Amino acid sequence: MFTISSAQEKQCTILISFDGFRWDYLNRNLTPTIDSLAKQGVRASSLEPVYPSKTFPNHLAIVTGMYADNHGIIQNDFLDDQTQRRFKISDTVEVRDARWYRGEAIWETARKNGKISASYFWPGSELNEEQRHPNYFERYDMKRPYQDRINGVLKWAALPVAQRPDIITLYFDATDTQGHAFGPHSPQVNGAIAQLDSVMASLIAGLRKLKITDSTNIILVSDHGMTDVDISRTIVLENILKGEQYQTEWSGPTVLLRSTNGRDNQIVDLLRKKMQHASVYMKSEFPEYYHFSCNEMIYPVIIAADLGWQVKANALTKKDSVNFDHGNHGFDNHQMDMQGILIASGPAYKTNYTSGTLKNIDIYPMLCKVLKIGPNPNADGKLERIGFILR
Ligand code: AMP
Ligand code: ZN
Ligand code: ZN
Repeated sequence: MFTISSAQEKQCTILISFDGFRWDYLNRNLTPTIDSLAKQGVRASSLEPVYPSKTFPNHLAIVTGMYADNHGIIQNDFLDDQTQRRFKISDTVEVRDARWYRGEAIWETARKNGKISASYFWPGSELNEEQRHPNYFERYDMKRPYQDRINGVLKWAALPVAQRPDIITLYFDATDTQGHAFGPHSPQVNGAIAQLDSVMASLIAGLRKLKITDSTNIILVSDHGMTDVDISRTIVLENILKGEQYQTEWSGPTVLLRSTNGRDNQIVDLLRKKMQHASVYMKSEFPEYYHFSCNEMIYPVIIAADLGWQVKANALTKKDSVNFDHGNHGFDNHQMDMQGILIASGPAYKTNYTSGTLKNIDIYPMLCKVLKIGPNPNADGKLERIGFILR
């Protein structure tokens, strides 16, 4: 079946996400391992997320090559009016329900083409339909020690070639978790950056031990960046919309709103007159460059806070002030603070190559090219915007 040389030639691509790892965290002199990986391969000056710059919409954008409008996961938490069901990342039943997911993830495309895929965590990797999840996967457990995740990936990478994955995903939350709690400039975030660099060192050492570094591509990305927020920069809608009847979804950088008595236009006018530090749009006129106005689950009014500001439906409570985060994301995806990272190294990638900003939706067609399979034609991502980083 497989000769030794074909076994050695089989490439394995490992796609790793460091949640909330802002583009400039690499400039803090805390990442010797990632720096040398970048030198051996490609480093993009930043990776542009899709709107809204949140975890699930962006991890799905990366693996499907689609904007949130199209892959359907418009937030970490949203309501389907038709069924009255709510998608919520803490609700494992909903997170695993394939009906929410409208895109084709790279592992589905891989399976259709006879390739083997695996995931040691990734949003959307646990779907309850056989052909729509990776061949091997682990159910998300935030508390799973990072070294266990590395060991799991190395175990897959060491499988006999007929079972070895062509593509593996891997996920770590540390920079996001510390970034929310303490802000992007905190010592805690710096600690998380250093921790993740040593996680990379451990993975690379493991690959070296297996003697498969030459046939392994490593693509390190993040889903979005992080910016400083403060409770004093909060906009409270009920203070502005006294007497109006409406429902809202979400709080923070983006809030969706709908009038319950047909006054969406009047509410937009009122907010435009009275609200500072945020922009308000009818969904139908939300600028095209956000690619966030087609999905039927988006309410008719979109309120988007300026960078560092946050919108809330109701007045702040005592609990809000105790629990208030110091960092957040979800803002305009073109803002520099919302940009993530992309580093790619291995036999498929150019060496010592620095590119400008890349778009995360273009990663899917690039992965298809590396795996030598045809992409889903409905993807929004384009190989021509990223293909130049390949060898
Ligand atoms: P965000 O609110 O956008 O910062 O989302 C980050 C959160 O997503 C982190 O607390 C992670 O624990 C969580 N998360 C990441 N991957 C998954 C997953 N596969 N399933 C459920 N939750 C996840
Ligand atoms: Zn995230
Ligand atoms: Zn986050």
